[in-house]
Amino acid sequence: MGRAFVYVILGGGVAAGYAALEFTRKGVSPGELCIISEEPVAPYERPALSKGFLLPESPARLPSFHTCVGANEERLTPKWYKEHGIELVLGTRVKSVDVRRKKLLTATGETISYKILLIATGARALKLEEFGVDGSEAENVCYLRDLADANGLVNVMQSCSSGNAVVIGGGYIGMECAASLAINKINVTLVFPEVHCMARLFTPKIASYYEEYYQSKGVKFVKGTVLTSFEFDSSGKVMAVNLRDGSQLPADLVVVGIGIRPNTSLFEGQLTLEKGGIKVNGKMQTSNDSVYAVGDVAAFPVKLFGETRRLEHVDSARKSAKHAVAAIMEPKKSGEFDYLPFFYSRVFGLSWQFYGDNVGEAVHFGDYSSGTFGAYWISKGHLVGSFLEGGTKEEYEAIAKATSLKPPVEDLAELGQQGLNFALTISKKPPPALPIEVSRSTSGLVLEKPVYAWHAAAGLVLTASIAGFAYWYGRRRRRW
Ligand code: FAD
Repeated sequence: MGRAFVYVILGGGVAAGYAALEFTRKGVSPGELCIISEEPVAPYERPALSKGFLLPESPARLPSFHTCVGANEERLTPKWYKEHGIELVLGTRVKSVDVRRKKLLTATGETISYKILLIATGARALKLEEFGVDGSEAENVCYLRDLADANGLVNVMQSCSSGNAVVIGGGYIGMECAASLAINKINVTLVFPEVHCMARLFTPKIASYYEEYYQSKGVKFVKGTVLTSFEFDSSGKVMAVNLRDGSQLPADLVVVGIGIRPNTSLFEGQLTLEKGGIKVNGKMQTSNDSVYAVGDVAAFPVKLFGETRRLEHVDSARKSAKHAVAAIMEPKKSGEFDYLPFFYSRVFGLSWQFYGDNVGEAVHFGDYSSGTFGAYWISKGHLVGSFLEGGTKEEYEAIAKATSLKPPVEDLAELGQQGLNFALTISKKPPPALPIEVSRSTSGLVLEKPVYAWHAAAGLVLTASIAGFAYWYGRRRRRW
């Protein structure tokens, strides 16, 4: 016999913390909710691990970054869960789930049953071994997904002050770790196979800004090649990395950031999977009515794109969790999840935000030497994505709003000239209040009707906004 709960959250990461807060707001009763997590600590803001946690001075440490401080909400300490009668089953891996019988089996041998299950198992870091390279077990080879990884990285970092670090992978984790290591006065070389960093998001022009900035901080880039093997010393520590291009780099520390894989294995053969994750509908409900999925593991319909996507970003984890709980607790009141994809990163003194989708043609704007610049992505005649570095709160809100409206854009050169002012103007002048019906065009893009009213409004806005351009580019920069 095991314990029984009305609601069980499987996984104790970002989404779990935001879901717990929402459950209490929606009136969950003490004793009804349980969170089971393999990690030994209550849910925390994972993005802190590659930023504040790695700082040499006053680094962030728990309990300061428990969820939900990242969204300026309450900080949920273990005491908070206790006070709300939420059972935290920590340091406990769930090894199997029977969705038909509504039961979980933990690695400690306990069976826990539920009425409603919320899957928030996130993802795991891909290992080098999955690419045919051995050596992940060496004590100075680090990954960064959870608190234990972050503690390991800090220990190795502290033991190799002024030493050499090789960072494998030029995506989020690689870029953020490289910056943090450089701040810790470690010599960093970043190695990746693509032609520029953040290849899945950045254009070559955006990437070159960040690469030059990193280089000014002493970070070296080795592009177009991959790690093939390590050289070990007699104690099994890595001393150097060998690259496919034949070169060798000395290494006191290696950080590997080569991607993640959603933790879906418990549900294979039981729930429908798509895009590498667990497929859910607009209420975050899986193919089994009693099971919901949120965060990195969920593949959900993104209305704005008219297709199912799986996102690996914190904002989507927070908001999908909140939406799922509303759908569970107030099914009649809650609608379909209508989410504008949002990613951000902060490295050194830089800070960027991206909204929407980076498909179609990129139009760059702003002065790339001033520290405030960006790009829009135009697909099938509409704005579908916006990127901004060094913006103010108002400017970030403007690009978010403009992207969500998907205004038509006819003249790309003019758009580039208007730059940020385009988003600022569009976001302040919504189209006339006509009923908006969401429909799918033949191209598969979701368009908002009536399109003709939009074209007319945007045309006027485009003309009116040119005058404001000089003013906006002369404004003082404010970070938030
Ligand atoms: P997670 O937060 O990964 O939580 C999953 C939880 O499930 C974990 O606690 C795990 O132990 C548990 N679990 C899994 N399987 C089991 C099991 N079988 N039994 C029990 N427990 C289990 N995103 C951004 O947008 N901006 C950033 O700047 C940013 N920085 C990041 C920095 C780092 C270092 C990392 C790792 C990620 C970063 N992200 C960032 C991504 C963001 O943190 C994730 O999108 C977010 O954590 C996803 O939340 P989640 O709850 O779905 O998964």
